Amino acid sequence: MSRLSAEFTDRTIEAHFSHHLLPQTKIQLRTTLLFCAAVYLVFAITDILALGLTPVALALFGCRIAVAVVALASCVTNHLHPHSVGRVYLTASITEIVGMLAFAPIVLARPDELPWHSMSMGLMVLVVYLYIPNRLVYALAIGVISTLVFIVMALLVGELSGKEQLTMVMLLSLANCFGYIAARRYSLIRREEFRVQSVLKNLSERDPLTGCHNRRYLQQELLNMELSRARRFRLSLAVVACDIDYFKSVNDTYGHAAGDRVLVEFAALLRGMIRENVDSLIRFGGEEFLLVLPETDLAGAMHLAERMRAALSAAVTEIAPGKTVGVTASFGVTSVNFASVVARFPQEAVIELADQLLYAAKHDGRNTVKALEFYGRPGLHVAARAAG
Ligand code: GH3
Ligand code: MG
Ligand code: MG
Repeated sequence: MSRLSAEFTDRTIEAHFSHHLLPQTKIQLRTTLLFCAAVYLVFAITDILALGLTPVALALFGCRIAVAVVALASCVTNHLHPHSVGRVYLTASITEIVGMLAFAPIVLARPDELPWHSMSMGLMVLVVYLYIPNRLVYALAIGVISTLVFIVMALLVGELSGKEQLTMVMLLSLANCFGYIAARRYSLIRREEFRVQSVLKNLSERDPLTGCHNRRYLQQELLNMELSRARRFRLSLAVVACDIDYFKSVNDTYGHAAGDRVLVEFAALLRGMIRENVDSLIRFGGEEFLLVLPETDLAGAMHLAERMRAALSAAVTEIAPGKTVGVTASFGVTSVNFASVVARFPQEAVIELADQLLYAAKHDGRNTVKALEFYGRPGLHVAARAAG
């Protein structure tokens, strides 16, 4: 994490983090902006008390209304673009800048009340750092620049003694320092929380030996997500079950550690043959793996399984210096085409069919691929003959 901006240095991780928090950030932004707009309007009372119902007071009211309008427009824009993180930061910054700009004519029109204005300025700076959700670097720039502009204005139009001027400058500097430090601390804590959550999520979704996704992830997230997507866009989704043949004898002959080595290499070989960030490889249990292949029909999945089977039977794993072991695997392949399948079915039904086909491959002598289209109704699969 960057110590200055309190953000992840990796832009992709930072984008993940911002998107993860977006719904919450938007609610916070809306609440704060509406609250700030109301406060800005209510404080028009102080203009009237100081200036009376004069044209200047009315002009200041116009400035206050402008701030409220910008705040409202920001809320509406964010509502209309619910997925844009950049827009949240942009609207937050614009509202902050307009709020600070609108404060200038108030200070100029009521120069006698500079001590109160500096107090307001200090509070506004804290609001910018701590309450309006924005990138810390933007808040820092807006806080520091508006404080400097305010100080210059106060020195030019105010009638403060040297001692009062020094106090004002020191207090406003403190407001910026504390605001920045507190906001930075908060940003770092939020990101650390996100990092820990991501690590835990990853640990709970992955198999530690092979690094593949685990069965929990498949059943609680992946399969449902991919089936829904395929159904929505009327696409094909293929599932391939594969299991190493006679793996027990590898353990029995060469030991458990060698078996582990074979599993790791087996998973690496499969992973190397699927599309990155599209297909998924799951360790379903022991030495059985499952592939989930979006937008893949039965012929495509069969072709891939056949290539995997051939690559595996040609490969060997080095279990000790100069000592290698070769294994084969059996494959059960199925695919559901949502262009024709409209019936609802439990997500387990697809895995069950892939598993049945895998065991048909085992019965048929192993080191083979069995495939069958999934039609959404279990009876149909039993009736149809598995294609080898
Ligand atoms: P088949 O061809 O019918 O699949 O026979 P198989 O020997 O591969 O299947 P079986 O179910 O009889 O044995 C699977 C073995 O896989 C038994 C189990 O000890 C081993 N196994 C499961 N998980 C692991 C693991 O993480 N590491 C190692 N080394 N072995 C494992
Ligand atoms: Mg096996
Ligand atoms: Mg097995």
